[in-house]
Amino acid sequence: MSRSAHPAGPRHADVLPEGHYSAPPADLNALDPKVWSRTVERDERGTVTVGGIAVTDLAEEFGTPAYFLDEADFRARCRAWADAFGPDADVFYAGKAFLSRAVVRWLTEEGLNLDVCSGGELTTALSAGMPAERIAFHGNNKSEEEIEKAVRAGVGRIVLDSFQEIVRVAHVAQSLGRRQRVQIRVTVGVEAHTHEFIATAHEDQKFGIALAGGQAAEAVRRALKLDGLELVGIHSHIGSQIFDMAGFEVSARRVVQLLTEVRDEHGVELPEIDLGGGLGIAYTSEDDPREPHEIAKALNEIVSRECEAAGLRTPRISVEPGRAIVGPTAFTLYRVGTIKPLDGLRTYVSVDGGMSDNIRTALYDAEYSVALVSRTSDAEPMLSRVVGKHCESGDIVVRDAFLPSDLAPGDLLAVPATGAYCRSMASNYNHALRPPVVAVRDGEARVIVRRETEEDLLRLDVG
Ligand SMILES: *Cc1c(COP(=O)(O)O)cnc(C)c1O
Repeated sequence: MSRSAHPAGPRHADVLPEGHYSAPPADLNALDPKVWSRTVERDERGTVTVGGIAVTDLAEEFGTPAYFLDEADFRARCRAWADAFGPDADVFYAGKAFLSRAVVRWLTEEGLNLDVCSGGELTTALSAGMPAERIAFHGNNKSEEEIEKAVRAGVGRIVLDSFQEIVRVAHVAQSLGRRQRVQIRVTVGVEAHTHEFIATAHEDQKFGIALAGGQAAEAVRRALKLDGLELVGIHSHIGSQIFDMAGFEVSARRVVQLLTEVRDEHGVELPEIDLGGGLGIAYTSEDDPREPHEIAKALNEIVSRECEAAGLRTPRISVEPGRAIVGPTAFTLYRVGTIKPLDGLRTYVSVDGGMSDNIRTALYDAEYSVALVSRTSDAEPMLSRVVGKHCESGDIVVRDAFLPSDLAPGDLLAVPATGAYCRSMASNYNHALRPPVVAVRDGEARVIVRRETEEDLLRLDVG
């Protein structure tokens, strides 16, 4: 990444403050297709449109802040993943990235499977008609009630996350007279980050059962003995927003090593491996994500090579992209309120949302892009920080961005690539009303998750 504390271009002072920014873009009105959803463009007046509808019309009809989801783009990404992996593999969409009943229907229609990790996500999936056998149930602390609900519904797999859960799920299944298909989630000692991965000797985190010290092999031993369980495979998820395939390579190699040990010890070849999700997307023009077909090719090659070397039949592979499907398909639309230039520093641009609709900047120091979308501007670029309206100085949406210096209250800003982990992590902090999600397709916009109202807030407050 090219970052500079002293970029060329217009300055508020001789020395610009430290920040995650490079030189201002050549054209502030340009929309980089890497970070905007497929149908986003500017019309002849310079207004940004999505699915053929101008953001000014969307703001008028649905208000701000609001998330606008490009349905054609979402469906195209589902198909790209399904096509890339083909009929001999399974793509599970990670519902925690963003889940609603409309999304479940799109997934069902496009042939994808679904990961859920709570009773609430499971209820949403089932209520919108996702066949239970296409659902995988995850989580490091599933309750007895959640396990029972999943087993009764007949979910395709439960991913076991601890020794206690092996017994718990077996017990529930047996008491219901079922044999539940399960995978065991292992931690392979690889932690992947955006641009690198770190192989650690031990895993200091809450998920999964360590391969190290023979723990995962012991988990397999126990699961194979229990009548309520049908152990079908091994699961490994190494992180999020990953661009480098090296972490997946190490992970696949170690999982296949475990499959080999299991065959040697028990004479059983487990038929499935799941390599998790975590594939990165472009939040800014500096990010270069892989296409699904490149990812599929790389993963298939690694797994078949390792299995061939071990004399194993190649297992059925599954992957679990969340962000890589929904992330790029939505933007958040905000209206500009207060503008506060701080001499020698930057201009603080306050919008009508903030950390209640996008916590990722505060939580992970995430980077985002932003653009003026209600009009074009030829004004000079101005180093800006887009902030929300909450009572926290860390309430930042976009830490460093260049916006035109004629920006004015009432203008509309859009932050792209907010489809994943924004609405799903939204909160009511300061009693904010969580924004709606509006699906846009072929000139039509419809609310798929409505805006919260003050009545919704008061309904929960029963004191
Ligand atoms: C979060 C998660 C995913 C999806 O991660 P993305 O970064 O959204 O692709 C997949 N699998 C598991 C087990 C997860 O916890």
